[in-house]
Amino acid sequence: MLNLAHGLSFNDLYHRDGLLALDAAFLQALAAADATLHQQLTAARANPDALAAKQESELLIVLAPHVDDFVAGLFGIVKEVRSLSARHNELAPIFSCKRLFVQRKALHKYKADAAAAFDGSTLKNQLAAKFGEAFSELAFAQHVTRWLEAEEANAEAIDFAQRYAAWAVQTPDGKHASAGGVLFKAPHKLDVQNLVPLDTDEARGFKIFRGKPEHLRHREGFKLTDRGTDLVGALDQAHYCIWCHEQGKDSCSKGLKEKGASGKGVASFKKSPFGVTLAGCPLEEKISEFHKVKTEGHVIGALAVIIVDNPMLAATGHRIC
Ligand code: SF4
Repeated sequence: MLNLAHGLSFNDLYHRDGLLALDAAFLQALAAADATLHQQLTAARANPDALAAKQESELLIVLAPHVDDFVAGLFGIVKEVRSLSARHNELAPIFSCKRLFVQRKALHKYKADAAAAFDGSTLKNQLAAKFGEAFSELAFAQHVTRWLEAEEANAEAIDFAQRYAAWAVQTPDGKHASAGGVLFKAPHKLDVQNLVPLDTDEARGFKIFRGKPEHLRHREGFKLTDRGTDLVGALDQAHYCIWCHEQGKDSCSKGLKEKGASGKGVASFKKSPFGVTLAGCPLEEKISEFHKVKTEGHVIGALAVIIVDNPMLAATGHRIC
């Protein structure tokens, strides 16, 4: 049986007394690390109604790194958690480069018609030569981030990178070449009447609709038809979020309200083009706060933010949450 820190056993996690001892150990660790935060948490627990939603979110976010440290220590996985967290930080340039360079600079400078004339594979080789290492999205992001610190001195390299990014995002060949990555993928506009792109074949005098061959996925038994995503893909989604909880506008959690609605009842929410009430997460999980904590590399703290509203996450989380 796994022995836990703080004199606890694995069995304690299944009993109220054990959980109370666990909570006491957490509070003690928090008090030792940050007395003010410990005080804030105990005050919030004593009078939860006194806390506005935004204050509650802020409290959970600042507690997340402490939850990370405590749970890692509890299970003896400090090294593993640190290394996972470090991997989050190592990948961070990809997401800042995507927002600040690819989307704000490259796509503004070179529109689709200009990008169509670029030779992507030559640009890729030129960039790899400038990097001094093989081309990868992480290498692109790391080098471009460094080049931008001295834009004039690196003008030629930056221009290669802008051309390559414009080509990769906007041309069919570029999209194909970067299909497995995240750096050169832009969200596309939704055509709600054509959510599933189909080819139409009228050769036989009637219409046959066919899904795109590249979208075809075979189902094996009851398994899902895709393998989900990896850490890079998950972080790409988390970084796409703009943390609307800071303005109280996190519709993913609280629903999309009609203008001026009180927020009570079905009528106060907007409807999708298909008439579905957009009431947000039925559990009001703190999705925005979770994304923020995840992007900061606090992996256990991020999970804990969701568990506050959905303790069954381990069972429902795979694809639902
Ligand atoms: S996921 Fe939620 S918080 Fe993030 S951008 Fe979408 S609505 Fe806003």
